[in-house]
Amino acid sequence: MIQLAKPYLPNREKLARYIDGIYERAWFTNNGQLVQELTKRLESHLGVDNLLLVANGTLALQIAYRALGISGQGKYTEAITTPFTFIATASSLKWEGIDPVFSDIDPSTWCLDPKKIETLLTEQTRLIVPTHVFGNACDVQAIDRIASEHNLKVIYDASHAFGVKYKGESLLNYGDAATLSFHATKLFHTGEGGAIIFKHKEDLERAKKMINFGITGPERIEELGINAKMSELQAAMGLCVLDEMEENLKSRSAVWHRYEQALSQTLQLQAKPEGLEYNYSYFPVVFNSEEQAVRVAAILKENGVLARRYFHPSLESLECLGATIDQPVSQDVASRILCLPIFDKLSLHDQQSINNLIKTELKA
Ligand SMILES: *Cc1c(COP(=O)(O)O)cnc(C)c1O
Repeated sequence: MIQLAKPYLPNREKLARYIDGIYERAWFTNNGQLVQELTKRLESHLGVDNLLLVANGTLALQIAYRALGISGQGKYTEAITTPFTFIATASSLKWEGIDPVFSDIDPSTWCLDPKKIETLLTEQTRLIVPTHVFGNACDVQAIDRIASEHNLKVIYDASHAFGVKYKGESLLNYGDAATLSFHATKLFHTGEGGAIIFKHKEDLERAKKMINFGITGPERIEELGINAKMSELQAAMGLCVLDEMEENLKSRSAVWHRYEQALSQTLQLQAKPEGLEYNYSYFPVVFNSEEQAVRVAAILKENGVLARRYFHPSLESLECLGATIDQPVSQDVASRILCLPIFDKLSLHDQQSINNLIKTELKA
């Protein structure tokens, strides 16, 4: 079976050496040496400051809402967010007691359409949570302008945007905070893991306490906290994956461009803004109809290839999130989209057979 995403497997001897170090120090967590080392290396690799490593990308979002004073205040609060994203963007809001208010996406970039946001603002809106979906840049200028005009915070779910640059600078530097997921299937990973990049150092310092139960000294608990710490074993994996990022990106870029060459004439690809340096993390395609997308997915599956209807369904349709208003653009894209397998070791042969299966089906 050819999977949609295959976790990147770094050099195992190197990982063993990091684990030897963990054994020697007998230190597994609580801001250990490897977590500190990975923090520094990621800040420099990504071109960001104020990066905090956490246990996963969902906790990254939850801690960001808390650290910016949005959730945990005992007040009814709403956040504007996108219906076209992974469930965790919206479920983390709801879990934190913030009502997600969905705003429709742009039909070509598939990110939040800034023109639709302002009509949805109420007295209770405190936050905007856009997703840089598939690593594409949201309209950051327009979103940040709306936020400052209405005194709202912005937290970008940048789980897909590891290493993406916009106009020569890290995309992660936009908003009051940006969050990353380091789940095994993501471009850069630590098995499970995540990070928050804060604009302001005070917010980073508050979040550091929050992820360790609010404990700040041997006999000192300053405030309410939770456990969201990254462990040394996770950091060891991250350090190894980071060392091989360049080769990983080179292979993925080759896969991505081969798909583009084979499919861009006949299928809709994601439109990206001028000045975006992409990370080749996903290859989504939009078919002419839902029927066609479903048929292609079935034929690929019969031939041992797992393409996923990703992201489907549009999140406002999920009852557990409590939304009631349809988002037609998101529903339309979600109904016709498939993500094709992309990972560093996808062979030329396998990719050609995927392209041929799709092309044959499109002609049928
Ligand atoms: C993967 C992902 C998350 C969740 O991250 P985990 O590390 O799996 O908790 C959140 N948002 C988006 C957009 C994601 O793709």
